[in-house]
Amino acid sequence: MINIALFGAPGSGKGTQSKLLLEKYNFTYISTGDIIREEIAKKTPLGKIVKEVVDKGELLTDEIIIKIIEKKIKPGCKSTGFLFDGFPRTVAQACKLDELLLKIGMQINCVISLDVPQEELIKRLAGRAEKEDRADDKNLNVILHRINEYEKKTAPVADFYRKQNKFYSIDGIGTIEDNFERIDKIIRKKLK
Ligand code: AMP
Repeated sequence: MINIALFGAPGSGKGTQSKLLLEKYNFTYISTGDIIREEIAKKTPLGKIVKEVVDKGELLTDEIIIKIIEKKIKPGCKSTGFLFDGFPRTVAQACKLDELLLKIGMQINCVISLDVPQEELIKRLAGRAEKEDRADDKNLNVILHRINEYEKKTAPVADFYRKQNKFYSIDGIGTIEDNFERIDKIIRKKLK
């Protein structure tokens, strides 16, 4: 079993690559962004609380995210392991994830970062707004705020995993297939 987190700024391709990984492997997929969008769409009490923050492009509090994640990390999940997308996004979340996985005798095996320059991120997110109806992709200020949140709060998570020798970076500006091959190569090596 291996547990992986895809890491990278908004628009770096984590969701796209996750879909391809799920076609090939039997991962238990956990995308905090998808979970939150579903809560908002269903207008649940949590969805109502978080909508404004998400629409502004800000990160939700660690407390909210950890409550969501705690329910998802259980023993006996599918065979390949967990695939996290958009989580952990702060050092506090990464520490909590280590703790939750340890409780079930697991750990994060690798964090794969998709490196994409800022101009390309902005172009991709603006393009995605037309295809997917995402409020947080529609406004340039919100896009810039999300990238800023990433630089400020999420980028330090890279060092957390670098210190554990679990951090891998790939060039995220090739074709979707090229990037998938780069990610899959790392996973194949880990699975050996
Ligand atoms: P994403 O689809 O991963 O870009 O997430 C969309 C939005 O959901 C983010 O801009 C945040 O507002 C919120 N969100 C998703 N995952 C997290 C997380 N791990 N920590 C804090 N906020 C999150």
